[in-house]
Amino acid sequence: MTKRAYNFNAGPAALPLEVLQQAQEQFVDYAGAGMSIMEMSHRSALYEQVNDETQSLLRELYQIPSNYKVLFLQGGASTQFAMIPMNLLPAGKVGAYVMTGSWADKALKEAKLIGETAIAASSEAFKFNRIPDLSTIEIPDQAAYLHVTSNETIEGTQFKSFPVTGDVPLIGDMSSDILSRPVDVSQFGMIYAGAQKNLGPSGVTIVIVREDLVQESPKTIPTMLRYDTHVKNNSLYNTPPSFSVYLVNLMLKWVQGKGGVAAIEQYNRDKTQLIYQTIDQSGGFYKGFAETADRSTMNITFRIHTEELEKQFVKESEQQGFVGLKGHRSVGGLRASTYNAVPLESCKALADFMADFQRRNG
Ligand code: PMP
Repeated sequence: MTKRAYNFNAGPAALPLEVLQQAQEQFVDYAGAGMSIMEMSHRSALYEQVNDETQSLLRELYQIPSNYKVLFLQGGASTQFAMIPMNLLPAGKVGAYVMTGSWADKALKEAKLIGETAIAASSEAFKFNRIPDLSTIEIPDQAAYLHVTSNETIEGTQFKSFPVTGDVPLIGDMSSDILSRPVDVSQFGMIYAGAQKNLGPSGVTIVIVREDLVQESPKTIPTMLRYDTHVKNNSLYNTPPSFSVYLVNLMLKWVQGKGGVAAIEQYNRDKTQLIYQTIDQSGGFYKGFAETADRSTMNITFRIHTEELEKQFVKESEQQGFVGLKGHRSVGGLRASTYNAVPLESCKALADFMADFQRRNG
């Protein structure tokens, strides 16, 4: 049996062993074609089937209404930070952003390069340890869209519900929590996510966009950076990241096999519960970074009272087979990322390790 690490990486992150094994089985010969999926033309019937089926699976699992397109793009979620204002922020309008932390900030900075922006609400005064109260969000009259980061990967906060924006399209960066819980897609104009946390490997970015929003991009935008290019060509305008899309396909089937998104949500709750409980019951030895109401089911951020102990925690955890528990370099501390594919057993092992570490150092 392959020895697998307790993988709490923030992204790229753990994939289900079953998915990896299936990919391994099909690695040198996909569907009897005498070649791997990577060696095949993206115009071949077999690849087109992967492309179409992957879209259908996502549509089905996420209950995406028929007036939305599903795109597989490249350049990561970071490229979306620019494509959104390029395509959806015309002169005279304002791109509104809810400032929740590091990734919202990056999205906003990029939009500033393209057009006029506004901060609709912010939790910066609280060092981003919470999501701003939805009732404080002020959408400017000229808003082209309202952008939210549904889960802040670095701070470990997560929107538990989303602002109602009326005619203003709501855009969600769901890079670190897509498909981790049911979402009412019709509440959004657009949802996007790099695949490398909840959906598969790096290399492909998922965009779910309402058709009417992509019909009138300015003519000056380069071809590859226009949503309508990819809509018209069914994500096959140029060579797609075929192996990544194929792995997303396997990953979506795995989610389906687990009972779908609602079942995955429950599974994720059970997983994080084990770790949050250990933090909450530690009498202050471990301190969660995020406010309880807004803490993430995907990235659990916490601290121990000295940096020395944190270092020791990371070191000992690595010796015991845990990976990825060091917090992001920008905020320090500790972080356990518990995306869809992280098994309950890993979380159980981490909770046990944490309790044991406290016993020895508390
Ligand atoms: N948004 C969020 C919430 C993220 O967590 C990340 C990656 N960690 C990004 C955007 C950037 O994604 P990419 O590396 O795919 O550009």
